[in-house]
Amino acid sequence: MSSSVVSPSDIPTLAQLYSSNDIPSPEDKPKYPVDDSLNGRISIWRGDITKLKADMIVNAANSSLLGGGGVDGAIHRAAGPELLDECETLGGAKTGETKVTKGYELPAARIAHTVGPIYSKLNSARSAQQLGSCYQTSLERCNECGGGSIGFSSISTGVYGYPIIDATHIALETTRKFLEKDKSISRVVYVVFSAKDEKVYRSIVPEYFPGSTSSSSTAYTM
Ligand code: ADP
Repeated sequence: MSSSVVSPSDIPTLAQLYSSNDIPSPEDKPKYPVDDSLNGRISIWRGDITKLKADMIVNAANSSLLGGGGVDGAIHRAAGPELLDECETLGGAKTGETKVTKGYELPAARIAHTVGPIYSKLNSARSAQQLGSCYQTSLERCNECGGGSIGFSSISTGVYGYPIIDATHIALETTRKFLEKDKSISRVVYVVFSAKDEKVYRSIVPEYFPGSTSSSSTAYTM
């Protein structure tokens, strides 16, 4: 199991996926302009976040910060008992907040524990604001720790019930706005656990991180 550790440098960037035509251009007009250097800082990877050798991984925690099911349970099991010891010193966190611990036995150096909202259809605007805060504060914590690579689990989209399509728009938009101003984060890896979630990310990512239009431009440069 531990032999399957993956580094962000082993994972193709969005820029590489565009150049190999693995991701099609968006059908709708992109919401943001093309920026190839940003595309070189984004990856989508289907796998187990506990195997990712990033500078920081983001855990979908609950407000106790003392572990739980899903990705939280997997992270605590893989990091070992010292993680819980450190979490017990943190005093919990509010929804939308993020607190950082060491990675202990994980290949990742640090863990950002962010508390996603339990999705409320009746108060979806508040859920959206809180989920945006999870991504924003995780990126801020990563920047404060010196930046580098950060791997996100798909916050709130498991037991907490956030619809994956809506959550993906929030993840990508918050990241796009943050990276436009930040120079410290070299790679954001969206870690998706299912083929379905991977498909969602791949279909929405061109709206926020579009590729330079066209294979035809390659033809003109010949
Ligand atoms: P939440 O309570 O915030 O909804 P969950 O852990 O239930 O958190 O689910 C969040 C996402 O994490 C889901 O997409 C789930 O499939 C995914 N997930 C579960 N285990 C792992 C893992 N080991 N690595 C990456 N993602 C995982």
